[in-house]
Amino acid sequence: MAAIVLAVINAKWIHPSLAVRLLKANLPGGLQDDSAIMEFAQRQPLEEKLTPILAAAPRILAFSVSIWNHGLTLELLEKLEQAWSSNPACTAPFIILGGPELTPLPPETAIFRFADFVIRGEGEEVFPRLCQAVLEDPAEAKTRYGKFIQADPVDLNAIKPGYDLYTDEDLKNKLIYVEASRGCPYACGFCQSAVKPKTAFLVREFPPEVFLARLDRLLCRIKNGKQPKNGAPRTIKFLDRSFNVNIPWALEILEYCLTKTTEETENGNHFQFHFEMVPVVFPKTLRTMIARFPPGSLRLEIGIQSLNPQTCALIQRTSNPERELEVLRFLRRETSALVHADLIAGLPGEDLVSFGRGFDKLWIALGGAFNEIQLGILKCLPGTPVHTMAEAGTNKLIYSKTAPYEVLTTDKLSLTDMEKIKNFARFWELIVNRQLLPLPPDKPVFARFMELSQQLFRHFGRNWGLPKEELRETAGLLFPAIEKTEEASA
Ligand code: SF4
Repeated sequence: MAAIVLAVINAKWIHPSLAVRLLKANLPGGLQDDSAIMEFAQRQPLEEKLTPILAAAPRILAFSVSIWNHGLTLELLEKLEQAWSSNPACTAPFIILGGPELTPLPPETAIFRFADFVIRGEGEEVFPRLCQAVLEDPAEAKTRYGKFIQADPVDLNAIKPGYDLYTDEDLKNKLIYVEASRGCPYACGFCQSAVKPKTAFLVREFPPEVFLARLDRLLCRIKNGKQPKNGAPRTIKFLDRSFNVNIPWALEILEYCLTKTTEETENGNHFQFHFEMVPVVFPKTLRTMIARFPPGSLRLEIGIQSLNPQTCALIQRTSNPERELEVLRFLRRETSALVHADLIAGLPGEDLVSFGRGFDKLWIALGGAFNEIQLGILKCLPGTPVHTMAEAGTNKLIYSKTAPYEVLTTDKLSLTDMEKIKNFARFWELIVNRQLLPLPPDKPVFARFMELSQQLFRHFGRNWGLPKEELRETAGLLFPAIEKTEEASA
């Protein structure tokens, strides 16, 4: 039995957590051998999470808490506490909580009731010291550290990467996360990167030679290990928030990745690299590099969020809508990159008309095909400027007080508008992003798809658990009729 269990509830089974691997990798040798990672998936029944933790009976139980697992982690901690308190033979472990979600939350937050220690900030340096102290003398550790520990940003040169802790099974079947840098130079009002103190989020990069040596080792393991037989791409996803802000550094890493795109495993799997890039930094050198990637080898997540300049100004987002659209047109016409663009509904100053106009501009710039638009709802994350605005009543942002803190209404969007947008987003994901139905790539589609999503909701009575073929058929029948009606009335 391990003395330390590092637990996390991941969004999906295929999304392994780099955070818990980093924590384990940075434990000193003896403690590392005496620690175990336990990963669960959001949809797994509670019992399946509870049982292995109780059976492991660790002395320290650490959870990585994120916005998407906060509620489930709280629920699990409640059940664990009940189990420990109802069985006198069990000794409850010391609970350590950490993760980006927790940093700005106030001490009275419900989840903290279960914690002996809460690490705010980056944990790789303080977590090993804390574990050692707790195992040696818990009372002394509590006096020395207190319950809330403010951890400074770590020295990236001093930490171990955690990639060796991906198992062969992970490398065969899951997305593989890596990070070449941390932080973002921008401070968009809704983003965790804007949480104070901003210094904690300034960009720090791993030296390229160090990072690339580690990445190379990881890719060799993937290539020489067992791989699925379907020839599917093996995706390496960079967690960097804004990979392209330092262009010479980004080019060095991209150049290496490009050399790997021609390599295949024995089952015909090839590497695909996934980066999050900001559209406001797209010089010619970067464009030329991206254009060299072969089809299927590069996925780009481009955060657009809003094409309304007033809205961007209200949230202090550095933006240039025309330039951003031009970048997307370039990517569509002159590269093979698969583009995934993000938009957020519910931002201050944006009504349904303005949002729809932005959506259509984005759709036409992306040109349909295999590109995706992901439509998210604004989250008022504690500690962010948008959260401060909401608390002050600015723009009448009303939001849910529990994670994920989604906006419910604004001065420009009623509850009904928000419900319609959420329903639109759900059907867009099911139908367009999953390519069930081709939409005209060169025409505005927002109003038509809004009508379609409303009709589909009325038809099915729900927007989840729908049989794919029935959805394809129904949407395929309804959409032409909506188009005809709209063209007749134009
Ligand atoms: S550019 Fe992206 S990561 Fe940076 S602050 Fe804005 S939303 Fe956050």
